[in-house]
Amino acid sequence: MSQHDGRRERSTRFESSKGVRPVNSFDDMDLKEDLLRGIYAYNFERPSAIQQRAIMPIASGRDVIAQAQSGTGKTGTLGISILQRIETKVRETQALVLSPTRELATQTQGVIAALGDYMSVQCHACIGGTKMGDDIRKLEHGQHVVSGTPGRVYDMLKRRVLRTAQMKMLVLDEADQLLDRGFKDQIYDIYRHLPPSTQVVLLSATLPHDVLELTQKFMSEPLRILVKRDELTLEGISQFFVNVEKEDWKFETLCDLYDSLTITQAVIFCNTRAKVDWLTRQMEDANFTVAAMHGEMLQKERDAIMTKFRQGTSRVLITTDIWARGIDVQQVSLVVNYDMCTDRENYIHRIGRSGRFGRKGVAINFVTSDDIKLLRDIEQYYSTQIDEMPMNVTDLI
Ligand code: ADP
Repeated sequence: MSQHDGRRERSTRFESSKGVRPVNSFDDMDLKEDLLRGIYAYNFERPSAIQQRAIMPIASGRDVIAQAQSGTGKTGTLGISILQRIETKVRETQALVLSPTRELATQTQGVIAALGDYMSVQCHACIGGTKMGDDIRKLEHGQHVVSGTPGRVYDMLKRRVLRTAQMKMLVLDEADQLLDRGFKDQIYDIYRHLPPSTQVVLLSATLPHDVLELTQKFMSEPLRILVKRDELTLEGISQFFVNVEKEDWKFETLCDLYDSLTITQAVIFCNTRAKVDWLTRQMEDANFTVAAMHGEMLQKERDAIMTKFRQGTSRVLITTDIWARGIDVQQVSLVVNYDMCTDRENYIHRIGRSGRFGRKGVAINFVTSDDIKLLRDIEQYYSTQIDEMPMNVTDLI
C-alpha cells in the first residue's frame, strides 16, 4: 500500500517504471501508416519522454496510469494511442476522453482531429455551454472519439445518444483536476454506463488519494508510467523575482513591464477570480490592452477570449490557475506570477507552459516580503534557481 501513498509520491523524485522500454521513434511504434503520416504532418518528429513510454502499452489495450506534468506531451500520448486503437470503419464511439475543463476538452478534440487527419476520424467535443441539439445530431451521426466534460457526457449517455456498445477505452485526462473539481460522482456514473471490458487510461500530474481510489475501482493491473521531474519543463525557462515588498506596489511594477509583455504573448496569473477582475479593470483604466479569463465567465465569452489569444489578437491574458491548466498556447514565452503560487505543484503548471519542447521562456514572480519564504521553498523543491530580475530582461524574451 505504501507505494500507493500519493503524498509520498509527490515528495520523492519520479522514476520511470521498470520494464517499460522507451521507444524513441514514432516509426518503431507499429503505428498505422495513415496515423504516422498525421503525426509527422503535425510536426511531431520525435516522441517525448511520456510518449516514448506510454503510447505502445496504451495502444496494446493495457490499463495505464501515466503520471507527468502538463506540457510533457500527454495530449499527444492519448491522441496517438486512441487513434491507433480505433477502427474508423466502425462508425461508433470507441474512445471517450474526459477532461476537467471545456477548453481542455476542445483542445484535445482538436489535437485528435489533426493527428487523425489522414484517417478520416470523426472526433466530437461534447461539452457544456453548447447547444444540446448540436451534440445530439453529431452523436447520432456517429463519432469515433468523444472528448468532453463529465456533465454533458453523462447527459448524452443517459439519453442514450452517446452509444457505448463499441466503446473500447475511457481516458481520464488531468484526473487529479477532475476530482478536485468535484466530478467524482459523475465519473463513477459514466464508468457504470461503459462495457465492463473497457480499457481505462488515466493521466495525471499527481496521484493523490482520490485518484488512487479511482485506479483501484476501475483499473485492472494498471501499468504505471512516471516521468522524471528532471525531464519536465523548467529547463530552458529563466526564472526571476521582483521584490515588490508590498501588495500595493505590484500594479506599478506590472505597468512598467507592459512593453516586455507584448513582445510575444504573456499570461499573468492571479490567485483569485476577484483579483483577475480587479487587475483587468486597473490595467484597462490605465489604457493597457489586456484580456481576462476565469471560470465565472460564460462559455461563449471564454471561447472568444481563448480564440483571440491563440490567434494573437490579444497578447496579454490575465487568469487564474484552474482555467489555464493544460491549456497550450505555443507563443506564450512570458509568464508573470502577479500573485505568488501558494501551491508548489501549480508553479510548474503556470510557468512550465512557456518552455515546452525546447522553446525558451521567462517567468517573473512578484514577491512581497511575506512571499519570500514561498519563493525559496519552490526553489528548493524544484532544485532550481530564481534570480532577481535583471534590467535587460527584455533581451531574454
Ligand atoms: P500535455 O498534454 O502534457 O500538457 P501536450 O500534449 O499538450 O502536453 O504537449 C505540449 C506541447 O508540446 C504542445 O504544443 C504539443 O503540440 C507539443 N508536443 C507534444 N508532443 C510533441 C512531440 N513529440 N514533438 C514536438 N512537439 C510536441
